Amino acid sequence: MFDWLRGRPAPLPEPRWRSLLAATPWANALDHDAAARLRALSERFLHEKTITPLDGLALDDDQRAQLAVLCCLPLLRFGEHGLRGWSQLLVYPDAFRVRRSHVDAAGVLHEWDDELAGEAWDSGPLILSWADVRADLDDPWAGYCVAVHEMAHKLDVLDGEMDGTPLLPREWQREWARDFQRRYDAFCAEVDAGRDTAIDPYAAEAPEEFFAVLSEYHFSAPALLQEEMPELAAHLRRFYGPPPAPVG
Ligand SMILES: [Zn+2]
Repeated sequence: MFDWLRGRPAPLPEPRWRSLLAATPWANALDHDAAARLRALSERFLHEKTITPLDGLALDDDQRAQLAVLCCLPLLRFGEHGLRGWSQLLVYPDAFRVRRSHVDAAGVLHEWDDELAGEAWDSGPLILSWADVRADLDDPWAGYCVAVHEMAHKLDVLDGEMDGTPLLPREWQREWARDFQRRYDAFCAEVDAGRDTAIDPYAAEAPEEFFAVLSEYHFSAPALLQEEMPELAAHLRRFYGPPPAPVG
């Protein structure tokens, strides 16, 4: 009944799916079953989300489909309900500036400009920079994948709080929160001490950034993540499924 109300997504034709896989290293490195799930999720994404290029950017059907594939990578285990809560993907040609503001405890308003490669608002659009998406694709095993990062934020907020702990069964959520907090505190101490870290120090920004950054490593530098933070790599394997292995 609900499926009928929502309509059935148009299938991605086989030749287009083949070329999408070939153009998307992380997807191309998935096993057969995972690739089939990714295809169904991507079709659902294209059916439900409006993809809007901004500032003169034009995206053809293949590029839109590739964005869908990238955004659906983190949903291979979680499933299509990971798409809940938002409807628009906005794509800027390049890194974009946003005006930030924050009122501190003394009631003073602080405002500053941030340059971002992507952003996920609580229930608003998911925002990506096409240039950054392209850069990730050109160097896929370097630890960066902005689409995965922003989708991790969307999964994080599904339980009502953006705090680095996504929607999970209760017991697992407790273990997750404990293990991530412990490692986050240790990582922040390393960054504060000025030590060089193998993981991007941006992860020390906040617990939700820690989760989102480690999610990027799960897909694009899984061996490094396993070496640096094995207990968290195990949580992410359970959450996202086995990481894609570099091909060739
Ligand atoms: Zn983030």
